[in-house]
Amino acid sequence: MENKEKRTSYCGALETKYIYFDHNATTPIHPEVKDAMEPFLCEKFGNPSSAHWAGKDVRGHIDEARARVAALINAEPSEIIFTSGGSEGDNLAIKGVLFRNLKKGGHIITTAVEHPAVIRTCQQMERFGFEVTYAVVDEYGRLDPREIEKAIRKDTLLISVMYANNETGNLYPVREIAAIARERGVIFHTDAVQVVGKLPVDVKELGVDLLSASGHKFNAPKGVGFQYVKKGLELMPLISGGHQERGYRAGTENVPGIVAIGKACEIAKDTMAGKSARIGALRDRLENAILERIPDTVVNGNREDRIYNTANVSFKYIESEALLVMLDLNGIAVSTGSACSSEFSEPSHVLQAMHLDPLCSRGALRMSLGLGNTREEVDHVVEALVGLVERLRQMSPFYQGK
Ligand SMILES: *Cc1c(COP(=O)(O)O)cnc(C)c1O
Repeated sequence: MENKEKRTSYCGALETKYIYFDHNATTPIHPEVKDAMEPFLCEKFGNPSSAHWAGKDVRGHIDEARARVAALINAEPSEIIFTSGGSEGDNLAIKGVLFRNLKKGGHIITTAVEHPAVIRTCQQMERFGFEVTYAVVDEYGRLDPREIEKAIRKDTLLISVMYANNETGNLYPVREIAAIARERGVIFHTDAVQVVGKLPVDVKELGVDLLSASGHKFNAPKGVGFQYVKKGLELMPLISGGHQERGYRAGTENVPGIVAIGKACEIAKDTMAGKSARIGALRDRLENAILERIPDTVVNGNREDRIYNTANVSFKYIESEALLVMLDLNGIAVSTGSACSSEFSEPSHVLQAMHLDPLCSRGALRMSLGLGNTREEVDHVVEALVGLVERLRQMSPFYQGK
């Protein structure tokens, strides 16, 4: 595809005046992924469990998709379970391990910066009588593997630490923590939703037992994901019923989604290196221009070890929600990561865990780049930010008193 690099080619959903810098929230479907899944919406409609021609053909395509997913992360096809996405994967890992020990109870270790799909699931497990340790991070959001090691107890059943953070892009020392878990006989899960499709992942080299991924974070459709479950590990299924997915996930398969995520994995494997170099250069250009042209800005997170597409920047003396709304009025899509309630908005739990100065956490904006973004867009967003931040600061009582 000659115009592969042009954003407008991605499903044609966006016109040039709209700029999408929120790829950690979701991504557009890759045109080749759309082409691959399309036959399964109409003519190839069979139920893969059926013994006749309509089912057998579809079964073959699911097998092929499973092999493509396995190849991307160096797993065996039999170690891949298709799910509805990252949230289900996180729930399957945590509940699947703990529900096998429901009578005995026990202890889980996770971190304070996980996605809500992990944090809220752990909180829910506390109501079932399990105890949870939420490991702390430093002001750059870094996690010391010794924090995890220190927290291990005799009754620790599971450690769950994300591979990359969706808000800051920080990468976590998953290989080191997996080694600690293995040595102490504890099962290890990683939420790799922000890494799969962006960076090479090798489950054997990482030494993880469970790994969750989501299709819509790497140019496959929403509502499909996969879970790596290391051979020999047994889980309690979240959904019981038929024998689909080796009995770990009953229900007739999401065939178009599965074919799509298989294709997205194949594309990622072939194009990852070029994509990371190109998008990484755009992210750096964006960040450097902001720091250079707008005073009182800081980059949040660990700049030494982050995923290449994410920029989390604090614009001091302003509320990032206001900035988000003004950018949106200008056709620019970004995110704040904060949880809005009806009366006031709280800074995100991730930035709170990093103990950011409130001046910084209130003004934090996440910009996450992806396929189709261009230098022109980066330069346009920088110009917009220069003007809007200045306007908002002129209205800010904090800034006046500075
Ligand atoms: C998006 C995301 C999820 C949730 O994935 P869904 O497929 O939307 O359920 C989980 N973890 C992380 C780190 C994410 O970024």
